[in-house]
Amino acid sequence: MADARAAGLNLLRQHALIAGEAVTADKTIAVDDPATGEIIGHVPNLGAAETERAIQAAHDAFGGWSRSDPHGRARILRDWARLIDDNTEALGALMALENGKPFEEAKGEVAYANGFIKWFAGQAERLIGETQDSPLGHVILTFRQAVGPCALITPWNFPAAMLTRKLGPAFAAGCTAVVKPASQTPFTALALAELAYQAGVPKGALSVVTGDAATIGGVLTASPLIRKLSFTGSTPVGRLLAEQCAPTLKRLSMELGGAAPLIVFEDADIDQAVAETIKGKFRNSGQTCVCPNRVYVHASVADAYAERLAAQVARIPVGPAFDPGVKVGPLIEDKALDKVEDHLRRVTGSGARVLTGGERHALGGRFFQPTVTLGGDDTLFRAEETFGPLIPVFPFETEAEVMMKANDSDFGLASYVFTRDLDRAMRVARGIEAGMCGVNTGLISTAVAPFGGVKQSGYGREGSIHGIDEYVEIKQATLALR
Ligand code: NAP
Repeated sequence: MADARAAGLNLLRQHALIAGEAVTADKTIAVDDPATGEIIGHVPNLGAAETERAIQAAHDAFGGWSRSDPHGRARILRDWARLIDDNTEALGALMALENGKPFEEAKGEVAYANGFIKWFAGQAERLIGETQDSPLGHVILTFRQAVGPCALITPWNFPAAMLTRKLGPAFAAGCTAVVKPASQTPFTALALAELAYQAGVPKGALSVVTGDAATIGGVLTASPLIRKLSFTGSTPVGRLLAEQCAPTLKRLSMELGGAAPLIVFEDADIDQAVAETIKGKFRNSGQTCVCPNRVYVHASVADAYAERLAAQVARIPVGPAFDPGVKVGPLIEDKALDKVEDHLRRVTGSGARVLTGGERHALGGRFFQPTVTLGGDDTLFRAEETFGPLIPVFPFETEAEVMMKANDSDFGLASYVFTRDLDRAMRVARGIEAGMCGVNTGLISTAVAPFGGVKQSGYGREGSIHGIDEYVEIKQATLALR
C-alpha cells in the first residue's frame, strides 16, 4: 500500500490550471487527509482575475473546438479514458488521500468516472439531427450545437465522477469548460485535467480554478461569456447560483442534495434488502447524495430486518483508506461528525433505540461508528440529509402511510423499494417523487442511467442518452426547396 500512496502523491500538483498553464499564488488553501488531519498539499487561492482569464480562454477556444469533427472529439475522449485506465491505481490513491474513502472504493470510483468519458465518446458520434416536412412546404433541418463555454462546479464526495459526468458530455458536444473543484478535494480534478491535455483536449478548452468559492462562483455566474452552469452540491448553494445566473439567463443543470427513502415491504427478501441497504448506505462513509437517509420497514418484519442489519453493520471494517479490507473511512471534516451526532441525539430523543454503533469510533479523529437505530420520529430525516454512517429504521403499517412519508420531503433525488410484488414495485416506482428509484437494489448509478432529481434536489439529467442534451442547443434551418 505504501507504493500506491507514493503513486498517488506522484500525481499531486499544487497549482491550478488555466488553459494548460500552471498557476500558483502566494495565498493558498491547505488540503488534508481526513484520516489523519495531516496536510497533503496546498492549492492556490485564486480570485476574480484568474477566473476571468480562464473564462476568456474558454471563450477563445470555443469556436474551434465546437466546430471540430465530433469523431475527432470522440477519439480524444477515448484517449483520455485510456490514460485514466492506465493511471487507475495512482488516481485512486490520490483520491483516497484527499477524500478519505477506502482505496479499493476510490479505484472503483475511477472506473465509474471513466465510464462517463467512454459513454460520451460514443455520444459524440451520435449528435444526430432530424429532417421534417413543414406545413408551409419547406423542409426543416435540426442540428445539435454546443451551448458554449460552461462553468462546472463539483463537490468533494466524488472528486472524479462528479467531474467526468459533466466534462464527458460537455466535450462530446463541443463545449469548453472552466472547472471549480471542491477545496477539500482539488487534486483529483487537477490530475484528470493533466491527462485530458495529454489526450489532446485543447488547452483553452479546459481550466481548473481553485480558490475562494464565492469569488470564483460570482465571476463565473456573472460572466456573459459563460453560457451554462452545471453544479453538483448542496441545495442552498445551488439556489444561490441559480439566482446569480438569472441576469445572464444561463442554461442550468442542478444536481443537489437528497433525503432518500428506502422502503422494505413485508414480502421483500429481507436478506437481500439488508445487503443492498448496506451497499447503498456506506459508500463514501454515508456521504453520498443518493444514499438511503431514512429506512421504512413494514412493522411485521421491522425487528427481523433491523436485527440482521445491525449484526452486519457491526462487522463493517472501519479505518484509514489504505488499511486492507477497510469498507468505511473517516468523514470529510469535523463538522460532519457533529451533524451525525446531532441527528442521532434527535432520533434517540424521539424514542429510537441504538442497535449498533452510536458513538465516535475508537480510532478517534473523524471516524464514526457505523450506526443503526430503530424507531423514533422520522420527520428530521425527511428534511435533512445526515451525510454520515447512520441508518435510522422506522416501522410502518400501510403502503399509503409509507408513500405519504416518503413523498413528504422537499427533496426528490434517489429512492429505493424492496418487494417481490411486481404491481407494488411499479406503483411505488411511479408514485414516488424522486428522479430515481432502485427496485430491489441499492445501486442505481452508472454512466448509462439518467441521474438527477426533482423538487429541491434540482433539475437536469447526467449520464445516459439524455446527459448530452444539457450541453446542446437544438438549432433549426428551414429550407425552401423548389
Ligand atoms: P457545497 O458546499 O454546496 O459545495 C459544492 C461545491 O460548490 C464546492 O466546489 C464548493 O466550493 C462550491 N461552492 C460553495 N459555495 C459556493 C458559492 N457561493 N459559489 C460557488 N461555488 C460554491 O456541497 P458539498 O458539501 O461540497 O457537497 C455535498 C452536497 O452535494 C450534498 O448536499 C450532496 O447531497 C450534494 N451532492 C449531490 C449530488 C447529485 O448528483 N445530486 C452528487 C454529490 C453530492 P468549496 O469547496 O471551495 O467551498
